[in-house]
Amino acid sequence: MKYISTRGQVAPIGFIDAVLMGLADDGGLLVPERMPQLTKEELAKWQSLSYPELALEIFSLYIEDEIPRDELKQLVDDSYATFRDEAVTPVRKLKDSQYVMELFHGPTFAFKDVALQFLGNLYSYISRRTSSIIHILGATSGDTGASAIEGVRGKEGIKICILHPHQKVSKVQELQMTTIDDANVLNLSVEGTFDDCQRIIKELFADVDFKHQYHLRAINSINIARILAQIVYYFYAYFRLAEQGQQGAVSFSVPTGNFGDIFAGYMAKQMGLPIHKLIVATNENNILARFVNEGLYQPGEFRGTHSPSMDIQVASNFERYLYYLNNGDADAVASLMARFKSEGSLTVTGDVLKQVQADFAAYSVENEECLDTISEYYKQHDYLLDPHTACGIAASDKLTAEGEVTVTLSTAHPAKFDEAIRLRSISQTYPEQIQALFDKPQFQKVVAGTNDAIKEQLVSFF
Ligand SMILES: *Cc1c(COP(=O)(O)O)cnc(C)c1O
Repeated sequence: MKYISTRGQVAPIGFIDAVLMGLADDGGLLVPERMPQLTKEELAKWQSLSYPELALEIFSLYIEDEIPRDELKQLVDDSYATFRDEAVTPVRKLKDSQYVMELFHGPTFAFKDVALQFLGNLYSYISRRTSSIIHILGATSGDTGASAIEGVRGKEGIKICILHPHQKVSKVQELQMTTIDDANVLNLSVEGTFDDCQRIIKELFADVDFKHQYHLRAINSINIARILAQIVYYFYAYFRLAEQGQQGAVSFSVPTGNFGDIFAGYMAKQMGLPIHKLIVATNENNILARFVNEGLYQPGEFRGTHSPSMDIQVASNFERYLYYLNNGDADAVASLMARFKSEGSLTVTGDVLKQVQADFAAYSVENEECLDTISEYYKQHDYLLDPHTACGIAASDKLTAEGEVTVTLSTAHPAKFDEAIRLRSISQTYPEQIQALFDKPQFQKVVAGTNDAIKEQLVSFF
């Protein structure tokens, strides 16, 4: 399998090179040159596979023999052995029309672990096999940082530096990142906002000489390996529902920020998984919901919400969808993205908008509605939702028609976002792994939010 850029200016490369490249060199995103297609018979054969077995089958379609099967199996098994639930991503029924798939049973209690446990092991494997130096540089508004660090801490041949905005992440998120003192981990607490962190990182990656000299690699969801890892659980959920007698197509509601998680669902559907609706659930930063419902893609004013991991205005993975929406016409994508850059918006109308609305449904959830949903499910179903998952559930309740069944992806454990939960006077007991963080010393450097200040840290660390 080869990987190509959504903007068409990168010669096709293999899977490992695609992982190392991260953002495509022409500024686009990497996608597989073709979508593997599954027949009903093949699908039926996967029904009884365990999570790691299913992951191995799906990864094999995208990696083929570039990684020998026994080595790939080891990578997959190691990645999911760290999950606390035997099912890895268990599916629970909340009511007849509503199931929830819990993606938060990995080491950092958020869904990012499903992909980043694998990507961490994969980087380690690539480093051993190709003698590539792996220096990971990333910015986080909270979950990605902790999960990426957990994925590579203590691993030989890899160093990781994560920037987070000083005192602007939740307490648990900060502790998860900064209580780790492995020598290959550097936490920079940047004076500024998440946008400042993201801008600095982008500028450093764009400095190609600096990028190559210091072997900088990406861990955010522009990395295709993260998307591939997330395809697996859509299949897994479908099979669990089939076991419970739910035959036929299933809908999914996905709390969305950078469009990575739901894009994996789109790929699952293109591969042949019977998916009915894919519901884009946003918070008040609702650019994607407005795009699906009105055809206008235009960043609005940034809003701080109860679901900070979805406080994103420009969704980095959206370009991957644009590529498929334009039937793989890379020139069209390149000119659309150029226009977006110069005019600040994109519009689709007519048949193209119809196609978007056939691919997705969307609903944006306001702050009060998010908290109301948490209260309602706590009272009526004895189930505590985190604020991100609550957005997914609210959207699902709004858009699931009579007689249909929707699986909402639960992207985080409620303990990570106690600040929001407490607003509805609900008290929770932290899992022991999270409680234990409060007694540990923290390791981080507070630095100014300038490129030079960050560069100085990187040069001495890498
Ligand atoms: C990252 C994140 C999301 C958004 O996922 P995308 O792939 O960026 O759309 C939703 N919920 C939580 C808890 C997250 O950490």
